[in-house]
Amino acid sequence: MPRFTHADENGSFGRYGGAFLPPHLEAPIAEVATAYREAMADPAFMDEYRELLREYVGRPSPLYLARRFSERLGGAKVYLKREDLNHTGSHKINHCLGEGLLAKRMGKTRLIAETGAGQHGVALATAAALLGLECEIHMGGIDVEKQHMNVVRMEMLGAKVVAVETGGRCLKDAVDSAFATYAADYEDVFFGIGSVVGPHPYPSMVRDFQSVVGAEAREQIMAKEGRLPDVVMACVGGGSNAMGLFSGFLEDEQVRVIGVEPAGEGLSGDRHAATMTKGVDGTLHGMSTVVLQEEDGEPSPVHSIASGLDYPGVGPQHAWLRDVGRAEYVSVTDEETLEAFSLLCRTEGIIPALESSHALAHAMKIAPEMSPEQVIVVNLSGRGDKDVDYIAEVMGSR
Ligand SMILES: *Cc1c(COP(=O)(O)O)cnc(C)c1O
Repeated sequence: MPRFTHADENGSFGRYGGAFLPPHLEAPIAEVATAYREAMADPAFMDEYRELLREYVGRPSPLYLARRFSERLGGAKVYLKREDLNHTGSHKINHCLGEGLLAKRMGKTRLIAETGAGQHGVALATAAALLGLECEIHMGGIDVEKQHMNVVRMEMLGAKVVAVETGGRCLKDAVDSAFATYAADYEDVFFGIGSVVGPHPYPSMVRDFQSVVGAEAREQIMAKEGRLPDVVMACVGGGSNAMGLFSGFLEDEQVRVIGVEPAGEGLSGDRHAATMTKGVDGTLHGMSTVVLQEEDGEPSPVHSIASGLDYPGVGPQHAWLRDVGRAEYVSVTDEETLEAFSLLCRTEGIIPALESSHALAHAMKIAPEMSPEQVIVVNLSGRGDKDVDYIAEVMGSR
């Protein structure tokens, strides 16, 4: 029995996880948990999923030795797991296809989800188009204005985008709105959560759909180096790309596992989203986890230069892995992230997502202290094309 990978049957990772739901949502979410368990044990389901990953996403993604980047740092060899090369440009398509397939298996006709900047919405709309499902994405009014291109993309893919004009018109309001719609109509609807967060079974289910990343990386590094890496690391927003990579290495306790969070403009103020570093135990979006929250228990407003990382909670398995000492969580600032972004562009000809650049920034800190025989695997969770306008703006103003 693996020690670090599985939750208990209630979806608890130690004191984290579980399913904290209003009574009317308990039955529909329990139905998802049962369907997920059955699907994972069904070879036909897993075959169909793996075929989509191969033929549609383009897996396996390469494990690429970033030679010039590593040489510049002057220490360990840095390998990049190239999730940026997936169809749609990030790791998110891995779990969106899994959720879409599960929805179909359950006889659902419609996918519903919230999205912040729109990345999850686009990936889910892609899966819906491919699988012949309807798709409805709830997005805060402010985000609809700020992330216009992603709204256009979702609509091109046939999704309906609901602009949420209540409350602060941001991600939290989009979550509430999507949940309310789901509660009113769960007979035909599957809720497609976008990370390893939310009530059980989502943290385990999304991890399992992402675990292909770690399984491939493990096989690839064994083929290239003949041994396991010294360190694996990934950025952590909700924590899905990190859980995907980590799950391939958790049982090998000699491999150091590091999650990298956004310290934003610095940890001393409130312009960051470093949940593990500054958060407290709490309940958020149906799970018990570590949360950045205000005195009154409301989730704090958070900031990161990478919109995919500005979440005031974290997947419960991460909170637990930290507690049992299996994983470490660190943070890097916006400034350090931009430096890492530039260095990868210029040494490797790869434009990384700002989210992924957080992990690169921490690699820049530790690689120089390591020896040239040592190996770091960084999850390059996505490509940075979506970020170029924003980066042009901030670089111009510096
Ligand atoms: C959404 C996103 C993330 C953050 O999500 P996790 O669940 O923490 O992985 C990271 N990288 C990219 C490219 C993303 O689009």
